[in-house]
Amino acid sequence: MARKRLNILFIASEAEPFIKVGGLGDVAGSLPQAIHDLSNDDTVYDIRLVLPFYGQIKKRFPEIKKLTDFNFHTGSLSLKGSVHLLTSERVPVYFIDGLPIKEDEPVYGSNFIADAEKFIFFSLACLELPRILKWKIDILHANDWHTAIAVHQLAKLKETRREFSRIKSVISLHNLAYMGAGSELALAKFGIEPAEDPFLPIWARTIPLPMGLASADRIVPVSPTYSREILTPDFGCGLENFFTQHLTRIEGILNGINNSLWDPSSDSLIPTRYNKLNLAGKKTCKNALKKEMGLSVNDQYPLITIISRMDQQKGIDLALESLSRLSNKNWHAIILGSGDPLLEKSALALESKMPGKVKTKILFDSSLSHRLYAGADIILMPSRYEPCGLSQLIAMRYGTIPVASATGGLSDTIKSDDPENMQTGFLFSPADAEQLTSCLNSALDTFQDSKKWQKIIKSAMSQDFSWSVSAGKYCDLYQRITIHNHQEEQ
Ligand code: ADP
Repeated sequence: MARKRLNILFIASEAEPFIKVGGLGDVAGSLPQAIHDLSNDDTVYDIRLVLPFYGQIKKRFPEIKKLTDFNFHTGSLSLKGSVHLLTSERVPVYFIDGLPIKEDEPVYGSNFIADAEKFIFFSLACLELPRILKWKIDILHANDWHTAIAVHQLAKLKETRREFSRIKSVISLHNLAYMGAGSELALAKFGIEPAEDPFLPIWARTIPLPMGLASADRIVPVSPTYSREILTPDFGCGLENFFTQHLTRIEGILNGINNSLWDPSSDSLIPTRYNKLNLAGKKTCKNALKKEMGLSVNDQYPLITIISRMDQQKGIDLALESLSRLSNKNWHAIILGSGDPLLEKSALALESKMPGKVKTKILFDSSLSHRLYAGADIILMPSRYEPCGLSQLIAMRYGTIPVASATGGLSDTIKSDDPENMQTGFLFSPADAEQLTSCLNSALDTFQDSKKWQKIIKSAMSQDFSWSVSAGKYCDLYQRITIHNHQEEQ
């Protein structure tokens, strides 16, 4: 029997190693490869990644080659773009360039009108790729608000253009709170019509993410718990009724991590390699990190870290408050993050208040993050909501134990009260300073019981957070939504 072929266009605003701002970059950099690798005797998954061709990528990857220029029309506009290709990856990676993708702007800028134009242009240009590449796609897989308009516009094109009629669409929902609000003018400029779904509140019909969600064949929140949370007013951001009406289209799939990139036994960015059977290297990493940061080297002091966007969502304020409240206990902390200027200021203020105890680094530094995951004992993630969270997955792989709020993917991946004595972390609820302080306090006490702590480390390092299971779930979903296409073709 001939092998079935599924052609998947995977579009995102960021992907490692090209550009990464947060967890979406980790996912878009690793999931397409994991899906590609699941090709078997029955099905070839021809998945291709598309990113905007940001100035930073142009500078760092001169080997990316231009394929062609192209023109397209939308509303009353005539637009020009170009496609570029990198073939050295297992999965082909295309880059779209054009005037709205400005050379020196950050991935997510402070000017939301410019961002809306950039991502709407990119989304529309992605829909031109099958024509340009002469490559018929079965599935359009978008991620978050930045690419949601491609899904919305695909549904419009299906009404009139035969070549689009068989394409199914998927949106992975990494963060519902970022919807692309403020895009109305840009949408009108590009001639994009509002969504019509009667269950969408009126305000949401001209906002990119809800517009895409209304048309997607499948909506994939990035953890099972988050897929239930979005049905409630506390987490649904005003779309809870819409989601409740479209339950059959929602399928939560947990994110995974790139196990070869995040691996303490082979990581070249950490001072010494180690594994769960030989943890001596972890201690070396901790001591090296403390020296690097100017903290005293003392085994009795657990090293706490935060590696995060500085955002209300992440509960950074709660973390700072709890560290303050527990200042009489023995610990050190290193905070790495950037974002909200007020939170950055508070994190720096904590360092000034406790200079020998707390070090704060306000920046985005991937290389330092590796040393922190390896050298720390505890990672704090007191998120107010967390669709999946990747930092706790990476931390556990490095034997760094999460103290986290019991929400979204944190609940799904951290075992706090494990009946089989396989504890991998500490969960608390609700997300407030009171609960966090008491939970962190108990983690600090447990740390002093070395035997128990080693057991928790080993359980955490034994978890499998690779993509193998979740990529399989995406493949299964792709198969199910395209089954009629293939039956029709036979
Ligand atoms: P987010 O909501 O930001 O996507 P996740 O936990 O899903 O949160 O993913 C965050 C990713 O970004 C992780 O890979 C984490 O290591 C990385 N990260 C966050 N802040 C920084 C920083 N300041 N420097 C380096 N890496 C960071």
